[in-house]
Amino acid sequence: MRLILLGPPGAGKGTQAARLVEKFSIPQLSTGDMLRAAVKAGSPVGLQAKAVMDAGGLVSDEIVVGIISDRIEEADAKNGFILDGFPRTVAQAKALDELLAKKHMDLDAIVELKVDENALLARIENRARETLAAGGTVRADDNPDAFKVRLDAYRVQTAPVSAYYASKGTLKTVDGMMPIDDVTKALDKVLG
Ligand code: AMP
Repeated sequence: MRLILLGPPGAGKGTQAARLVEKFSIPQLSTGDMLRAAVKAGSPVGLQAKAVMDAGGLVSDEIVVGIISDRIEEADAKNGFILDGFPRTVAQAKALDELLAKKHMDLDAIVELKVDENALLARIENRARETLAAGGTVRADDNPDAFKVRLDAYRVQTAPVSAYYASKGTLKTVDGMMPIDDVTKALDKVLG
């Protein structure tokens, strides 16, 4: 199962992806997680990405396409993968088409979690509160200001990615505003 999960920040992609990982025994490939790991490790990619990420902007297509191209070749992705947070721009979607064609791989599904943007800010604030209450650390880009920038970046650069797949007739949508378990059930249904 090779799958793309689309949807704005805070839509619940990470939560649902974790469940699909269990169901299909495939890895969740989150460019956000991989970039955060690179920042933590202080690698050249991480050093380049940190300031952009902290401000809620988008890291260059070249960097993220390179990361994904290498990652999907790894042994644990042999039976498939879930792309979470990638592609984020139409240029990335086109680059992904090209690299999958080169690697003779097909996508099985592209699913968008549709959510009400007004409810997202409340969801992000809640996520930050819960993380703090559990003794965790809140991501630097999960504060309301950076979140708004991320949402704007989504609207301008990533919403067209859904339109790109819709125009190819390959986009499926699920209502991401439902309770978490209902979203999971709806995803199971569209994935067959
Ligand atoms: P996320 O965890 O998916 O919200 O990603 C956190 C941050 O990592 C984003 O705000 C971007 O700065 C960066 N990022 C993650 N994935 C991508 C991508 N596909 N293209 C560009 N930047 C990305």
